[in-house]
Amino acid sequence: MLMNQNDLHVTATLIWYYFICQREVWLMGRQITPDQDNSNVEIGRFIQDNSYRREKKEVDLGHLKLDAMKLENGQLVVAEVKKSSRFAESARMQLAYYLKELKGKGVAARGELRFPEEKRKETVVLDEETEAELDRVERDILRIVYLDLPPEPKKVSWCRKCAYAEFCWA
Ligand code: SF4
Repeated sequence: MLMNQNDLHVTATLIWYYFICQREVWLMGRQITPDQDNSNVEIGRFIQDNSYRREKKEVDLGHLKLDAMKLENGQLVVAEVKKSSRFAESARMQLAYYLKELKGKGVAARGELRFPEEKRKETVVLDEETEAELDRVERDILRIVYLDLPPEPKKVSWCRKCAYAEFCWA
């Protein structure tokens, strides 16, 4: 089943899942919901489990919603607060994707991932290497979503909570 090309595009959510499960990227990229239709519930729970609830500091830039922003030494800093670093690579690349979107709007910024329960934070910068990696990931996400069939399931820790578990493993 080949979808209309306009239906397939990279999103911040797909960047997040790319580093967790490429089969889920295919399923979500094609907007396939599981039979029990609880994917939104599961995805919502997942995002809530892994991020602090957004507070007043949330900044809405069209489709971009960022947790907090501040100016530091004349540079804009956007922050994402996470409950744990368990999916740090997903969080890092998702934040880098936001920085790239901002750059596309003419705004240079750096990112800050905060893990308050682990008492640490991490800086994310959109350097040449990160931008090249993002370009590669975006191309690979499109390659995956355009596959006729989803990648074979592979057991990952997220499978236990995943809304597609029955589809993959029943
Ligand atoms: S159940 Fe596991 S393999 Fe299947 S989509 Fe979810 S995370 Fe991927």
